[in-house]
Amino acid sequence: MFTKILVANRGEIAIRVMRAAKELGVKTVAVYSDVDKDAPHVQYADEAFPIGPAQSQLSYLHIPNIINAAVHTGAEAIHPGYGFLSENDHFARVCETWGLVFIGPPATAIQQMGIKAGARRLMEEAGVPVVPGTEGTVTDLEDAKQIAQKIGYPVLVKASFGGGGRGIRIVEDADGLADALERASREAQSAFGQGDVYLEKYLINPRHIEIQVLADKMGHVVTLGERESSLQRRRQKLLEEAPSSGMTPELRSAMSDAARRAALAVDYESAGTLEFLLDQSGAFYFMEMNTRVQVEHACTEVITGVDIVQEQIRIAQGLPLSITQEEVNFSGWSIECRINAEDPDKEFRPSPGQVTVWREPGGPWVRVDAAAQEGYTVQPYYDSLLAKVVTWGRDRDEAMRRMARALDEFRVEGVKTTIGMHQKLMTDEQFRRGDIHINFLAERFKGA
Ligand code: ADP
Ligand code: ADP
Ligand code: MG
Repeated sequence: MFTKILVANRGEIAIRVMRAAKELGVKTVAVYSDVDKDAPHVQYADEAFPIGPAQSQLSYLHIPNIINAAVHTGAEAIHPGYGFLSENDHFARVCETWGLVFIGPPATAIQQMGIKAGARRLMEEAGVPVVPGTEGTVTDLEDAKQIAQKIGYPVLVKASFGGGGRGIRIVEDADGLADALERASREAQSAFGQGDVYLEKYLINPRHIEIQVLADKMGHVVTLGERESSLQRRRQKLLEEAPSSGMTPELRSAMSDAARRAALAVDYESAGTLEFLLDQSGAFYFMEMNTRVQVEHACTEVITGVDIVQEQIRIAQGLPLSITQEEVNFSGWSIECRINAEDPDKEFRPSPGQVTVWREPGGPWVRVDAAAQEGYTVQPYYDSLLAKVVTWGRDRDEAMRRMARALDEFRVEGVKTTIGMHQKLMTDEQFRRGDIHINFLAERFKGA
C-alpha cells in the first residue's frame, strides 16, 4: 500500500478521501490556498502544504503548485476528489511524468469521455443507447438547423467540454437556434476554455438515473446499482437516492449491462459513473460519464457497504477489487441531501460568510460528511457545498422519515442554507410517492 498520498482538493471530499486513507493506514497531505489555512480539511490531514492564493486558478487548479507540494512532501500518489483537476487528462499525465500515481482512471479514458460529443459516438459503437442528436460537434448554423429539424424541437445545445450544468441551452424552434449556439459556445469558452457544442433532443421530464462502476487493472468490472439524481436546480443536483423509485429489476439489469459495456469500451479503471436519462416511455439513454468519484457516491456506499474511495486507492495501487459482482448485496434505501450555503428564497444565490452556529445531526443511520464548523468562514471562491446528510432506512419511507429527523436536528446560523428546502421536500406528497423528474424542483421552488 502507499505510505502517503496527497489530496488535491478541499472541503468535504478532501476529508472523505483522507478518512478512506486513514483506514488503510496511509498518511495524508492536504493542500490549501491562503484563505483555507485553517480549514477543516487542513486540520484533518497529517500534514499540509500551501499552494497559492484564494482564486482556484492560482491554487487548487494550478498544476505546478500541486506537483511541487507532492514532491516536497514525498507523497507517492494524488487523489483529485471531484471538480477541480479530477477530470483533467493533462493533469493525470503530468502526475505520471513526475512518478506520482494519479488515483483515478487512465488519462486516455478521461479524455475519451471528457469530449462529450466524441463520447456519444464511442458509446453508440459499444451498443449503448444515446440521446438522439448530432454525430459530433456542430459548427455550421445551416447544418445545425437541418439536424434539429430531423431530431425535432425542442433541442438542447450542449458544450462538449461542459460540466456542472453549465454550457447548456434549450432551443424551442429554428428561430432561437443561432442565438443559443452562440451563447452556449461563448459560455463554454469562458468556463472550460473550449467552445465546441453539439445538439441533443430535449427529453420532456425524464428522470436522471446513473450507474456506479468500479474497474481494476486486471479487467474486472463491477457495477454497484443505480442512484437517482433527478432533483436538481439549474441542472445541478440537490438530493440523491439509491436505489431509484423509478427502477425495475429488468431496467436495472439493462442499464448496468450498458454501463459495463461503456466502461470496457474505454478500458476504464477506478470508480466512474454512467449518467442516463430515463424517459416516460421507459427507454433510457446515455448522457455522459463522470470519470471520478461523485458527490453522491455515499448513497451507494450506504446500501452496499462498499467503500468506493478505498476501492479507488486499492485500484491505483494495482490491487484487485475487493468484491466480485456476485458478492454485491443491496440493503434498504439511502437518501442524500446536499446542504449548500445558498438562499433558496433568493433563487439559490450563494450565501458566503461566517458560520456562527453549527450543530450536526447524529443518531442511528445518519451519516454527515461535512467541512464546516462553528466559526468557519464560507468563502465566495469555491463551491457552496457545506455538508451532505445521508440517511439509511430499511425502505424509502424509513430513510425519508429519518432524514426529516436529521434535518430537524441540523442547526446552522450565520449563512443561509438549503436545509429548509429539504425539510419541505420530506413532507411533499408527490416526492414521497416517488413521482419525480428533472424539472420537479423547478416546479416546486422559485428560481430552482
Ligand atoms: P453536466 O456535465 O453539466 O453534468 P449533463 O449532460 O450531465 O451535463 O446534463 C446535466 C443535466 O441536464 C442532466 O442531469 C439533466 O437534468 C439535464 N439534461 C441533459 N441532457 C438532457 C436532455 N437531452 N434532455 C433533457 N434534459 C437533459
Ligand atoms: P456529481 O456529478 O458528482 O454529482 P456535481 O455535478 O455537483 O456532482 O459536480 C461535482 C463538483 O464538480 C461540483 O462542485 C461542480 O461544480 C464541479 N464540476 C463538475 N464538472 C466540472 C467542470 N467541468 N469544471 C469545473 N467544475 C466542475
Ligand atoms: Mg452530468
